[in-house]
Amino acid sequence: MGEEKTFKCPKCGNVVKLNDGLGMMWSSFDKSMFYRPKNSFDLNFYDELDKKMIDEVHKFIEESKDVLVADAYYQPYICKKCGKMESKLYFKIYGDDKTYIPKYFCECGNRYKKLTEKEQEHLHCDKCGTEMIKTDILFWD
Ligand SMILES: [Zn+2]
Ligand SMILES: [Zn+2]
Repeated sequence: MGEEKTFKCPKCGNVVKLNDGLGMMWSSFDKSMFYRPKNSFDLNFYDELDKKMIDEVHKFIEESKDVLVADAYYQPYICKKCGKMESKLYFKIYGDDKTYIPKYFCECGNRYKKLTEKEQEHLHCDKCGTEMIKTDILFWD
């Protein structure tokens, strides 16, 4: 089960939608997901992960004998430099003696950090800095 939270800035009207959790469509998430042809998806897997990340994942999988993909879910991220917030697909791949975790970057070039549950209680508008109001929660699977 996943949820989409909508936040609105009371001052400038900026709207941010953040997903978290994992829907049914992701229940079979495993390493084969990274090898399927692009047109075999009715979901936006390849929109979530850029080409560079797919290449990194392939390299990681091919260098490890045993691979386990785990902990896949949507995670809200924030750029601590410009304040932009966005949800991305988080996952871990365990290899023989290392772990792959996706790194996401903001449009401004700074690396995204995970937004904690606590931080999500007080989000600030990336346009004007005003504290945002949660207006809606939508459940999806
Ligand atoms: Zn604002
Ligand atoms: Zn940024």
